[in-house]
Amino acid sequence: ILALTMTGALALTGLAACAEDTTDPGAAKTPKIGVILPDSKSSARWETADRKYLEEAFKAAGVQYDIQNAQGDKTQFQSIADQMITGGVTVLVIVNLDSGTGKAVLDKAKAQGIPTIDYDRLTLGGGAEYYVSFDNVAVGRLQGEGLVKCLTEKGVKNPNIAQLNGSPTDNNATLFKEGGVSVLKPKYDANEYKLVDDQAVPDWDNAQGGVIFQQMLTKANGKIDGVLAANDGLGNAAISVLKTNKLNGKVPVTGQDATVQGLQNILVGDQCMTVYKAVKKEATATAELAIALAKGEKKQVSQTTKDSESGKDVPSVLLEPQAIYFNNVKDVVTDGYVTKDELCTAD
Ligand code: BGC
Repeated sequence: ILALTMTGALALTGLAACAEDTTDPGAAKTPKIGVILPDSKSSARWETADRKYLEEAFKAAGVQYDIQNAQGDKTQFQSIADQMITGGVTVLVIVNLDSGTGKAVLDKAKAQGIPTIDYDRLTLGGGAEYYVSFDNVAVGRLQGEGLVKCLTEKGVKNPNIAQLNGSPTDNNATLFKEGGVSVLKPKYDANEYKLVDDQAVPDWDNAQGGVIFQQMLTKANGKIDGVLAANDGLGNAAISVLKTNKLNGKVPVTGQDATVQGLQNILVGDQCMTVYKAVKKEATATAELAIALAKGEKKQVSQTTKDSESGKDVPSVLLEPQAIYFNNVKDVVTDGYVTKDELCTAD
């Protein structure tokens, strides 16, 4: 419209400038960051913490963003990515549902010159510019140590242990298990503890976790003394089964994510511990890297993570997790992650 109102010469330069804007790859594009979250059921964190803190960080930096949730659907995950890529995002941040679809999305973005960040979960073989997460082996180690601590405090001798692991398609679940087992295996080997069952829960599906745990308990004739559950959702699924068997509070169960439900389970004595991951720091670090990438800059980070599939070292930011027991639930409140009101409200 502007061009039409101008004289011929001006219109030409104007149009030429317009054409240049869209074709010159070096020209500054308006930063717009796309984020795909995985689901809203495997953990409360994605919608209550990650979305909130990412939004806060993007708003504070004054950049445009589009945060969507794939609701556990891999097809939807890919179509959100397609839509974001054609919609002009300049950086794409993903929490993959599995490495296969994650890699397909990262490859598409890369083909369009869009840099990518793996948020929380590493996409094996994916080749994202950065990976921002926690030290996930440490998360598992805290869970293993927590289980030992709670069993020791209860004076349980030679406990039967059940391991309820996260999704087999989530690289984090592998790392959590690795960390947990590093603590428990020496005890299994010494016949101090007995591993009676060990199963992964597809897609971290909490309902399925409950079904699996019920089967474990039946198979063990009710003799399970400790549960290494990979997150609060799976921990709560196990606790529900223990409740129907009047075993809650007697059998320590671990967790992760410091969800309101997990913390409440700790406060009433049904859950041994959870692992608090300061998602605000994870989101802030991701937003900073994404904003730099959007400006065509590349920030130096001090850590790397070996991608076990490609063998490549992915530049990383890996934060420290914290174990939460009855006595330090208040740390999570002090940090602003949950409020006292949320914890003190009955479900
Ligand atoms: C995250 C956990 C979360 C789980 C299920 C993992 O990749 O690190 O915090 O509980 O996925 O959503």
